Amino acid sequence: MDLTTLLMHPGPSGTDRQDGFGDLAPPIHQTSTFAQADPHCLGPFDYSRSGNPTRQAVEAAIARLEGGERGLAFASGMAAISSVLLLFSPGDHIVASRDLYGGAYRALTTLFSRWGLDTTFVDATDVVALSRAVTPRTRAIYVESPSNPLLTVTDLAAVAALAKEHGLVAIIDNTFMTPFLQRPIALGFDIVVHSATKFLGGHSDVVAGLAVTADAATGQRLQAIQNTFGAVLGPQDSWLTLRGMRTLAVRLAAEQATAQTLAPWLAGRPEVARVHYPGLPGHPGYAVHRRQADGPGAVVSFELQDAAAADIFMRALTLPRLAVSLGGVESILSYPATMSHAAMPPAVRAERGISDALMRLSVGLESVPDLMEDLGQALVKAAAGI
Ligand SMILES: *Cc1c(COP(=O)(O)O)cnc(C)c1O
Repeated sequence: MDLTTLLMHPGPSGTDRQDGFGDLAPPIHQTSTFAQADPHCLGPFDYSRSGNPTRQAVEAAIARLEGGERGLAFASGMAAISSVLLLFSPGDHIVASRDLYGGAYRALTTLFSRWGLDTTFVDATDVVALSRAVTPRTRAIYVESPSNPLLTVTDLAAVAALAKEHGLVAIIDNTFMTPFLQRPIALGFDIVVHSATKFLGGHSDVVAGLAVTADAATGQRLQAIQNTFGAVLGPQDSWLTLRGMRTLAVRLAAEQATAQTLAPWLAGRPEVARVHYPGLPGHPGYAVHRRQADGPGAVVSFELQDAAAADIFMRALTLPRLAVSLGGVESILSYPATMSHAAMPPAVRAERGISDALMRLSVGLESVPDLMEDLGQALVKAAAGI
């Protein structure tokens, strides 16, 4: 079935048709616990941390969309990522992309390193470099493609093959693409994580995380962690996430089309020093991305001449809202230096090419002419220094 159809009909959640009323929108099971008819033989749900029908509906939907065996919903993208990392043990080692989301970088370098899980960060555009970082203690490879905020591209089939060769778990954060544009399990990945706060939820009204495992056994282990660690997604937020996911295809297609117009336009502006977008033929990962994804997505990063110009530009914008986050129906401009990558020491940021003149635009559903006019006037002010 086509993914656009699957989004409308993600399949039987096992419970949404039980009451026989035929709700088209899934019911919100706002309950902490479930009355049991038999003290010895409990029903399909007993306590909402362990399982809830509304959460199960979103979990089944993301598993089907990603083509995995098991989907699990968490209180945030970071809760999903941290719970996946709890699959490993002190003494284990992870090879990760050096361009990981700032919060994941923080989790690995503070919380999990203190706990004894070590990470080596590598330029994941270079699969040879990834393979050189593998040690006898390595248990997993963890990447994002395109990465945040520089939109670097990793060859996912090559990473999956490398993981297979060494018996490692291949993990990817698919937040920027969603299954609408990229399905890593089909490329050989074992675990896909999402901040559903972004494109999947899509309306800047919910914080949520999802994880999908390719195989049932890993799904079982992750479900045990979800239940034990307890960072679950509540029924209301599960419902909002499901509600957002239904329009994912039309939203992301429209946002991507606008981004594909804005990226070359920005690249042609004299005030713009550099544009990072995998849909531009000059992008170093252009060919690899085209091979492994169905489109370049709706996030465009760009740099002005310097931090002062970026500062004027951000204050002059009226349409894109200046905010942490991305993937909403409204355009959102983020400043990695003080937002997503504030947790990264300035020296590390500079070394990774995340300059103080870099901004990340998540393109929303506004019209192209309106966005161009607003970005244009802000660029003129930034160049004039006013
Ligand atoms: C936002 C984000 C996260 C973290 O998700 P939260 O829902 O904010 O916890 C992880 N990865 C990527 C790529 C993100 O953009």
